[in-house]
Amino acid sequence: MRYLLLSFLMAFSVVAFAQKTYIYCGQLVDTKNTTMLKEMTIVVEKNKIIDVQKGYTVATAADKTIDLKAYTVMPGLIDCHVHIDHETNPNRMLAFQQNKADIAFGSIQYSKTTLMAGFTTVRDLGGSVSIAVRNAINKGQIVGPRVYTAGKIISSTGGHGDATNGLREDLMNISELNSDVVNGVDECIKAVRQRYKEGADLIKICSTGGVLSLEKDGSGAQFSEEEIRAIVTTAKDYGMRVACHAHGAEGIKRAVRAGVTSIEHGTYIDDEAIALMKQMGTYHVPTIIAGKSVADSAKKPGYFPEIIATKATTVGGLIQGAFAKSYKAGVKIAFGTDAGVYAHGKNWMEFEYMTQAGMPILECIKAATVNASDLIGVSDDLGTIEKGKLADIVAVDGDPTKDVKVMGKMVFVMKDGVVYKSTK
Ligand SMILES: [Zn+2]
Repeated sequence: MRYLLLSFLMAFSVVAFAQKTYIYCGQLVDTKNTTMLKEMTIVVEKNKIIDVQKGYTVATAADKTIDLKAYTVMPGLIDCHVHIDHETNPNRMLAFQQNKADIAFGSIQYSKTTLMAGFTTVRDLGGSVSIAVRNAINKGQIVGPRVYTAGKIISSTGGHGDATNGLREDLMNISELNSDVVNGVDECIKAVRQRYKEGADLIKICSTGGVLSLEKDGSGAQFSEEEIRAIVTTAKDYGMRVACHAHGAEGIKRAVRAGVTSIEHGTYIDDEAIALMKQMGTYHVPTIIAGKSVADSAKKPGYFPEIIATKATTVGGLIQGAFAKSYKAGVKIAFGTDAGVYAHGKNWMEFEYMTQAGMPILECIKAATVNASDLIGVSDDLGTIEKGKLADIVAVDGDPTKDVKVMGKMVFVMKDGVVYKSTK
């Protein structure tokens, strides 16, 4: 009798534990086949999707239902280029005023804003405390997306990541500001190992100049091909992929030949670079919104020093065309915005810029789910709404195939089976 009672209690507790959630979707984006399915039910148990069913399945009294019949549901969006721990600010003195703790506290809001905008996963491409931000989110100490981060950028002396560019000579020797600068194969190898030790998930390098650094050339090649190859080879040893910031064509080609996984920005991409990227299977992460927003900021008097304003205006005008060119030529595209260069939470505007350049919205959503998870290396868990995947599910108010702006009307956000935003 006692045994029977015990087994009854055990069975009951198993049933109680395995409560399912039935999510009713008016429309569901099939990101794999870029089609829209009508009237579907997603079944979630704990943090996993355990089934996707046609029609609205009737749930038992023990189960939960979430009614998204009025909305368009899709997998959690993935932004492959963010800077989760900072945000654009015209005050260039901040670099000398903020401690890492100040930066970390600032990132709490950026992380939350990003998740509430429907981006349940991000690839962070450079920040001073982004590894700590990732860890805090994973521990549940703060609310934010799933973060895969490069930690600190790796750059050459005078390069895009050299924070001492444009400073007084004695200030150029401040080691903390210089800590991401390396030259020569040996230092490149050491830097990758250092990132591994610090807990980075991937590597970010700069193979050309950039817009927002105090250097005169935003497009010329930086790092030799030999240096980049050493970085890529070493990163592979540690199971890390390499993302490469590049505007100019020569810097793009060196990086692609050396085997980087993605080219970020790609502003001056040419036919030869496009052919190489197709041959090597390199992703292009366009970041059109970053180009547009720095060009806008450059119009505000005093927002940037003149040397930056000039570059911002030029690059901002070209970046959408560069994306159109590589997309039409068949280069693999993953969604990425450079959030932080503009205000976090507006990531969705990239969808509008991509569609303007000729990519249909469902292809754009695929770039922000299927392709993005492939680029990061997490396709087994993310990118589609399928049995066995993690329950990262979001919904927008309206039909994005009719109006791309509804991508900014995020009404429901579930990450890892937990609801963070709901209209109900
Ligand atoms: Zn960036």
